[in-house]
Amino acid sequence: MKNREVRVRFAPSPTGPLHIGGVRTALYNYLFARRHGGKMILRIEDTDSQRFVPGAEDYIIESLKWCGIEIDEGVGVGGPHAPYRQSERREIYLKYARQLVDAGWAYYAFDTPAELETLRQEAEAAGRTFAYNYEVRTKLPTSLSLTEAEVEERIARGDQWVIRFKMPEGEIVEMEDLIRGHVEVNTSTLDDKVLYKSVDALPTYHLANIVDDHLMEVSHVIRGEEWLPSLPLHYLLYRAFGWQESQPEFAHLPLLLKPTGGGKLSKRDGDKMGFPVFPLFWQSPATGETAHGYREDGYLPEAFVNMLALLGWNPGTEQELFSMQELIDAFSLDRVSKSGARFQPDKAKWFNAQYMHRKSDEELAALLQPVLREHGVETTDALAGRAAGIMKERATLVGDLWDLTSYFFVAPAEFEEKQTRKYWKGDNPRILRELREVLASIDDFSKETTEQIVHAWIEQHGLSMGQVMNTLRLALVGAGKGPGMYDVTAFLGREETLRRIDYILANLKPAE
Ligand code: GLU
Repeated sequence: MKNREVRVRFAPSPTGPLHIGGVRTALYNYLFARRHGGKMILRIEDTDSQRFVPGAEDYIIESLKWCGIEIDEGVGVGGPHAPYRQSERREIYLKYARQLVDAGWAYYAFDTPAELETLRQEAEAAGRTFAYNYEVRTKLPTSLSLTEAEVEERIARGDQWVIRFKMPEGEIVEMEDLIRGHVEVNTSTLDDKVLYKSVDALPTYHLANIVDDHLMEVSHVIRGEEWLPSLPLHYLLYRAFGWQESQPEFAHLPLLLKPTGGGKLSKRDGDKMGFPVFPLFWQSPATGETAHGYREDGYLPEAFVNMLALLGWNPGTEQELFSMQELIDAFSLDRVSKSGARFQPDKAKWFNAQYMHRKSDEELAALLQPVLREHGVETTDALAGRAAGIMKERATLVGDLWDLTSYFFVAPAEFEEKQTRKYWKGDNPRILRELREVLASIDDFSKETTEQIVHAWIEQHGLSMGQVMNTLRLALVGAGKGPGMYDVTAFLGREETLRRIDYILANLKPAE
């Protein structure tokens, strides 16, 4: 690495909800910045007004916050290179576009979208693909084919124009990528990209991206593989501006692939297989269409981040569970793979379960309380945490906690049919009535004492342990689920335990 301050940027375009691939790009930038004591910049690239989606920027910021990805400079934070939203920097770019025209690296083009469409169709009819390149630029109305006076006249009378990059012919561009190594491209295969458009007085992605990376002193560009084809143009833009000395280093991250392997992970894959491809719930302001998010689906941010970090990077050890700090300490770009990383929904769940199991009662209380409140249950944090703590080993998602613990807080009013048929018959109601008296006589209702006394009573009367316990379970839980019975009695306490037994005795008709 060159000896310079590490400054990276996450530069999303607010064109919709941030895909998890985008979150991973942000995460790798963040890990890299923190690893090297550098800065993480958030730049919003909103120069494509056609694709702008209201709410997308807030969504991006909230997603990063939820993941614990901290921004040092940028939109929402400020910094020495503010503003960081490209639409607020629009006056900056024209000067740079003109500079390239003056130096012979770019030119004005006056053809209209309709004219270009005709050329495209003609080419297609002749079995070719139309490319705006060295072969056609002098034949079209551009500053390369028109006289200076004609160009000036067209601009003065208000014709629409764009500035295009004049891609050299037949030159091999040699590039270095920190993940892919040496890459070469012949410029004759590339077209003359638009850099600036008069119609909305805005630069395109390529120009704004290079100018801003330069002005914001970005040292490393870490972004998705889909931008690799733009790299030769970006190299040439640095050369055209004379900025090679401070040109950032590049790292293009592998794609996130479908669970089945082939192709890029899409929203459709998520819908089909029941997993989110977005960090947060999203509703399109235009169509009202909604998309699932990891947060709302009950994933923990630390599990989500851990899972994402390992999609395309490996630590070189067997370790799978990493806190953010551990990721920062272990992260390096040379352990990022070149090939695509296959997304595995089950692995996402596995990570979440691991983090659920490691939560303290206090942390669990904070997760469970909102769910309890939603169901109209008011209880203390201590009890919420205790119930969740007893059941956490069986939880995968936050939402599982309600199903796993609801009976601690809500007495059963109805009883599962299968269990009722099995256990609410024959001698069992009578035995439960007797057990009620045993329980009523216990002063210390702790798990251990209750267990000891009830077991002794079962043995003394030659009863079946399974029969008694399952009948008691039906009374207290209303179903055949839950933890050990004495965890339940100790949690409920004597009064509530007896109340539930009385309820079933009074209300449930024994099965035939
Ligand atoms: N605005 C581009 C995007 O949305 C940024 C690409 C880059 O990082 O250069 O992916």
